[in-house]
Amino acid sequence: MTAQIIDGKAFAASVREKVAAHVARLKDESGITPGLAVVLVGEDPASQVYVRSKGKQTVEVGMNSYEHKLEANTPEADLLALIDKLNNDPAVHGILVQLPLPDHMREDLVINSIDPAKDVDGFHISNVGLLGTGQKSMVPCTPLGCLMMLREQLGSLSGLDAVVIGRSNIVGKPMAQLLLGDSCTVTIAHSRTKDLPGVVGRADIVVAAVGRAEMVPGDWIKPGATVIDVGINRIDAPEKGEGKTRLVGDVHFESAAKVAGAITPVPGGVGPMTIACLLANTLTACCRANELTEPDGLTA
Ligand code: NAD
Repeated sequence: MTAQIIDGKAFAASVREKVAAHVARLKDESGITPGLAVVLVGEDPASQVYVRSKGKQTVEVGMNSYEHKLEANTPEADLLALIDKLNNDPAVHGILVQLPLPDHMREDLVINSIDPAKDVDGFHISNVGLLGTGQKSMVPCTPLGCLMMLREQLGSLSGLDAVVIGRSNIVGKPMAQLLLGDSCTVTIAHSRTKDLPGVVGRADIVVAAVGRAEMVPGDWIKPGATVIDVGINRIDAPEKGEGKTRLVGDVHFESAAKVAGAITPVPGGVGPMTIACLLANTLTACCRANELTEPDGLTA
């Protein structure tokens, strides 16, 4: 078998198109423009790249983008005051504080100070609880993107066996909740799981979110399974020249693609969906705040 490659780049583009179309309608019909505020503390180079990219894509779909850059040594109280201001700003429908924060800031406290209705990352404890109890919430962007791809690929997920490898708060746990919400039989595997190959081998859906380069080989995968590779790992690529590197996922793509029914590549799979879902969440938050119709197919 040769797996179908799930093109995350193209799918993300289609999500952005849907968002842009709904934003245009919203502006026309209600005069409201969704706004996303992104807060960056410090000068972490990777975070700077993400924030730039988020701002650019926000504007491209017709929404307002507000960027707030704070010095690395900003007191925590100043960040909390800024969040309070954004919570009370009616032009801001989504607030994202780029992680990680500097060591002197308490991440949980900062995240939980965001108005849950504007928490487009879905990390606020209220949104975690709402998701866990199957209620309407803001859903973390990466797992939401994975769910959208799975639904697009498989239609109904009901009754399928799914394994999520990784139990982080930002990917593994919310992913498992979403799959449960779609009536999968879900196993969460992690670093202490006994017989990981056996667990993976029973699954119709494999979501790998570990952060270990190519740790899932093709011979663990059930023939025909759908494989979503969240991992992003940089490894040496001497074949490209001295000192060169390349990105790989948590799944060994070449061997897995011979067994799976469908698989996401790295790069070009889950990655592009994350920002697309951030835009979708901002639009959803704006619609909910103004009691307007939410877009179809862009939420869990
Ligand atoms: P994390 O480090 O917070 O969690 C990793 C999880 O993997 C842990 O729960 C741990 O128990 C589990 N684990 C570790 N070793 C294991 C092993 N040998 N076997 C089974 N499980 C094991 O990581 P995270 O934030 O969830 O991110 C996971 C990966 O996904 C990383 O590579 C990250 O870069 C990537 N990621 C990608 C996106 C995206 O947009 N595509 C977004 C978020 C994270």
